[in-house]
Amino acid sequence: MNLLDIYKELNTAAKCLAFLEHMRWPGGVKCVSCESERITALVAKGKRNKKTGKVGPDRHLLQCNECRFQFTATTGTIFHDTHLPLEKWFLAIALITESKKGISAAQLSRALGIQYRTAWYLAHRIRKSMVEANPPKLTGTVELDETYIGGKQRGSKRKLLNKEVVMGIRERRGDLRLIHIESPTAENLGEQIRQHVSPDVKQVMTDEWPAYIPAFISAGIKGTKHETIRHRDKIYVRGNVHTNTVESAFSLFKRGLTGAFHKVSLKHLQRYLNEFSFRFNNRKAPDLFGMTVRRMALAGAMPYVTCPPSLVQG
Ligand SMILES: [Zn+2]
Repeated sequence: MNLLDIYKELNTAAKCLAFLEHMRWPGGVKCVSCESERITALVAKGKRNKKTGKVGPDRHLLQCNECRFQFTATTGTIFHDTHLPLEKWFLAIALITESKKGISAAQLSRALGIQYRTAWYLAHRIRKSMVEANPPKLTGTVELDETYIGGKQRGSKRKLLNKEVVMGIRERRGDLRLIHIESPTAENLGEQIRQHVSPDVKQVMTDEWPAYIPAFISAGIKGTKHETIRHRDKIYVRGNVHTNTVESAFSLFKRGLTGAFHKVSLKHLQRYLNEFSFRFNNRKAPDLFGMTVRRMALAGAMPYVTCPPSLVQG
């Protein structure tokens, strides 16, 4: 579904609930309390508006025949305790999944006619659903690189104290991982390599940063698999050896940062990185919107944060 479909087809609370029901239980509704599949759909009209006398739309209330528990598709999901209509949630999800470089809370607030604070909260909830719990390890030919975000550029790689370090790992013709690390030490790099790169990888490619050598050793990846390119000598490609595909992902991310977010809270940098990687890795998915709604319906709740944390120049 694209933004226009969603605008046309998911424009009432009842339609949204029916859609969510389908996304949450594609194999048929199960009781939220006891998992029974013996469910009755109740005809439950919403509250009568005292002023207009109109009765609210069907609430798509479901009842379990075993334990008598009554619920709807939003029960126990992150959609439940917000007062925001599902239509707006879905539009927000569509906007976030469709914008290649991301969308800021300010843009979201204007597009949906909601408060900035609500938009900010919404965007973070949606981002949370984009985190891969156990992503598969990358293999084949894998490029690794680091980039620096925020602050003014000062000194060499070693002295970039006021910048945030983002490590990028990308399998050629495969997935991307972006990880916010404290500094590009052998220990930090090694830890991420162990987590994200398969020891059976065919080749790993990096620039000349020396910390990669002990990092690969600690991750059990043989030195013979490691190819380096000397960026200091302005050499960027040597035959098959380059880190261009991970760098192109960095530049797309950075364009998103300056173009859409302007300011990214350091505390939340990893969430932006997750959002970006999720969209990037699923760029060929036929229905990213539906996929995201489904993930959100299945994910747990996040406590409400009343105000955006301090913003740091990005
Ligand atoms: Zn039940």
